[in-house]
Amino acid sequence: MDPPSEGGLEPPLSQETFEDLWSLLPVDDVAYKDEPLGLEYSLSPIMSDIQEGGVSSTFALVSNSAVPSTEDYPGQHSLQLEFQQNGTAKSVTCTYSPDLNKLFCQSAKTCPVLIQTQSSPPPESVIRAVAVYKKSEHVAEVVRRCPHHERSLEAGEADSAPRSHLIRVEGNVQACYAEDSNGRHHVCVPYEEPQVGSECTVLLLNYMCNSSCMGGMNRRPIMTVITLETKQGLVLGRRCFEVRICACPGRDRRIEEENFQKKKELKNSGKRALPSSPVVDSALPKKKCPSEKKPFILEVHDPEHYELLKKMHDALKAQDILNQQMLTLKSRKYDDIKPKKGKKLLVKDKPELE
Ligand SMILES: [Zn+2]
Repeated sequence: MDPPSEGGLEPPLSQETFEDLWSLLPVDDVAYKDEPLGLEYSLSPIMSDIQEGGVSSTFALVSNSAVPSTEDYPGQHSLQLEFQQNGTAKSVTCTYSPDLNKLFCQSAKTCPVLIQTQSSPPPESVIRAVAVYKKSEHVAEVVRRCPHHERSLEAGEADSAPRSHLIRVEGNVQACYAEDSNGRHHVCVPYEEPQVGSECTVLLLNYMCNSSCMGGMNRRPIMTVITLETKQGLVLGRRCFEVRICACPGRDRRIEEENFQKKKELKNSGKRALPSSPVVDSALPKKKCPSEKKPFILEVHDPEHYELLKKMHDALKAQDILNQQMLTLKSRKYDDIKPKKGKKLLVKDKPELE
C-alpha cells in the first residue's frame, strides 16, 4: 500500500475507480446516480443457476431499469453495427434495410451482425443483446417466445439456451443467457477484437419465433438492443435496430421500403404544394376534398387487418394527392391546346385530340 500523500487528502482508490467508471456512463444512465454500484449490477439467482448448468460466465447483469433504452449511443469507442447486404430476393433468409433500420429474417436462421468500434474497449468487455417491444404500449412487457415454440423442440436445437428466450447467439460456447430482476432475457458474449485483416467482430443471432406468433410477439414490432459493456456492466455504447421475423424477409422488406418511400414522397409533395402554389389550388377542378366528405368508420379488431387497411388507406390518400397534381398539370396543358371536346378533366384516357 502506498502511503497517503501529505495531509492524507487523497481519496481512497475505490473512490477514484468509481469516478473513472462514472465518467464512462452514458447520459441516460445518470438516473441511477444515487444507487450504490454494487446493487445495480448484482447477479440474479437465475444467473447462478445457469452457471451451475455448465455455462461458465462472470458477466454482470445490466441495471434494474424497467425498460432498456433504445437510444443509439456510439460512446467513446464509436460503436457501430453493420449488416450484410443481402437484397430483397425471394430466397433471402436475412436482410437488413438501412432506410428503415430494420432487420427482416426468418425464424431460427443465422443473422450476422457486424460489430465495429473505432478504438478497443477495455479487456473483458461484453456484448449484450436484449429484445424489447417497439411501441410504448407494449414496452413494459418482456419479449419471449410463444408457448408453442417454447414447448416444441426443433431439430438441432440442443444448445444451452433457455427455451423461453427469443434471441440466441449461434456458434459461441461462451454465450451466457440470463434474466434480469424484471424478467427480461439477456444474452451476453465476451467482446472479441476483430480478427487480423478484419474491421468487425461478428455476432451471429438467431430469433426463435415469428413476429406473428400468437401468445408471443403477437405481431407487435420489436427492437434488438446491442450494448457494449465493461465486465462490470457499465454501458460503453449502444445500438438498436428493429426486427421482423417472418416467412418472406425479402418480400416484406421490399413492401415496407416501398411504403416508406411513398410516405416520404407524399410528405415532400405536400410540402411543395402548400407554400408554393396556393393560386393553383384554388383553380383546381372542384373535386371534393376527402375531409369535406362525411367519414366512413370501419371497426377492425384484428391488428394485422388494421395495419393492412391502414397501409391501403395511406396509399389511396397518396394516390389522391398525386391525381390532384396530375389534374392540375393536365388542365394547364390542355387549356393551352384547347381541345374541341370537353374532356380536359378526364384522367383515365388520353385526350381525343384531332
Ligand atoms: Zn413462436
